[in-house]
Amino acid sequence: MHPTLDEIAASLAGYDPKALSADAVNAFLSALVQPLTDTESVPLFGALDRILANDVVSPVSVPPHDNSAMDGYALRGADLLPGQTTDLRNLGTAFAGEAWKGVACAGECVKIMTGAIMPAGTDTVVPVEFVSVSDNQVSIPPGVVQTGDNRRLLGEDLMQGRAALAQGTRLSPAALGLVASLGLPTVEVFRKLKVAYFSTGDEILSLGDAPREGAVYDSNRYTVFGLLHRLGVEVLDLGVIPDQPDALEKAFKTAALSADAIITSGGVSMGEADHTKAMMKQLGDVAFWRIAMRPGRPMAVGRITQSERSTILFGLPGNPVAVMVTFLAFVRPALLRMMGAQTTPPVWLKAHSQEVLRKKAGRTEYQRGIVSRDQQGQLWVKTTGNQGSGVLRSMVEANGLIVLHHDQGSVQVGNEVDVMMFEGVI
Ligand code: AMP
Ligand code: MG
Repeated sequence: MHPTLDEIAASLAGYDPKALSADAVNAFLSALVQPLTDTESVPLFGALDRILANDVVSPVSVPPHDNSAMDGYALRGADLLPGQTTDLRNLGTAFAGEAWKGVACAGECVKIMTGAIMPAGTDTVVPVEFVSVSDNQVSIPPGVVQTGDNRRLLGEDLMQGRAALAQGTRLSPAALGLVASLGLPTVEVFRKLKVAYFSTGDEILSLGDAPREGAVYDSNRYTVFGLLHRLGVEVLDLGVIPDQPDALEKAFKTAALSADAIITSGGVSMGEADHTKAMMKQLGDVAFWRIAMRPGRPMAVGRITQSERSTILFGLPGNPVAVMVTFLAFVRPALLRMMGAQTTPPVWLKAHSQEVLRKKAGRTEYQRGIVSRDQQGQLWVKTTGNQGSGVLRSMVEANGLIVLHHDQGSVQVGNEVDVMMFEGVI
């Protein structure tokens, strides 16, 4: 059985739903969500960004033979004369893709192409541009090559029987190439995570609706859609749901029947007397938090169980920047865990602040930042200005989020700050 939210809360020291630290949110979520177990076999061209369900064990060694890294002459390193020209007799040519039959003995060499198997007896390749050849005598000046040079060793990329890639690896372009180099046409991956999302609020217009006073167009569904796509999950878009019990119940139930996770935006603020929170409570085991962070204070998290399926709920705040920040800080790592990915903590850049950043210790702040490199190669970051949680334009202008940690105070000009870069994520 999965632990209940109360059990998870009880296991976290100092859990306070009214002032939860960003670290506590992530600790809570990693106890709440479980990795997928269903797997499927997919052809390599369909496997980009999928998560490996098993270790990929190399059935072969790559490369399968010692071979030449250059066009040149394969020789015995022991023949090289220190400090003087070495003359060797060329026996023939070794081409890539076929083994040269024969053995090179003392005083002999074999012309060789890049990728060709090293002829028996040889251990070194001198590049063609260093030698002079007349008839079949090859002259090698001193100092241009040492024993073992320009030879690729059997298995230097991968050794047969070793794990080439570990379970939980997200298949990058390089990983796809590596799997292909082993001769494997398919890989076993976790099935795709399915994530449903909808926006809530009576003031939220769908695209195509006529503008009306006090109403705003829904942007959250589009940012959430984009963020989910970057993660490589399957998405289910349930539209904009008005703040009405029947409509909300239907949306939550539809989502819970087929999705592994639901992301909503809006309607979770503390003071808000709306139906979204009431419906979350009615349908699931849900906690409502005030997080010690900016932007994105209110958030609901829980589990909705229907027909023995349980679906994780992420109830994000309504403000467009708060949605993106809470997604990046909390939802993304939780979804990666659900997808079966073995993640390492994100690599943050350290950049010098171009400005004073006022900040109180006791909460985590995420400021939209623009990182650039000066002529000395130093990284500097400035903010995009207005950090209002509704100013989505600033998320577009920024190339990363300056992360001002929970215990950190104000930042002076020149101080180093951590930046979570957007590249590949947004
Ligand atoms: P709420 O959390 O519902 O109080 O919403 C906070 C703010 O975010 C309000 O100004 C909402 O109008 C705005 N908001 C909520 N949902 C959306 C959305 N889907 N697209 C754009 N703005 C939104
Ligand atoms: Mg609202």
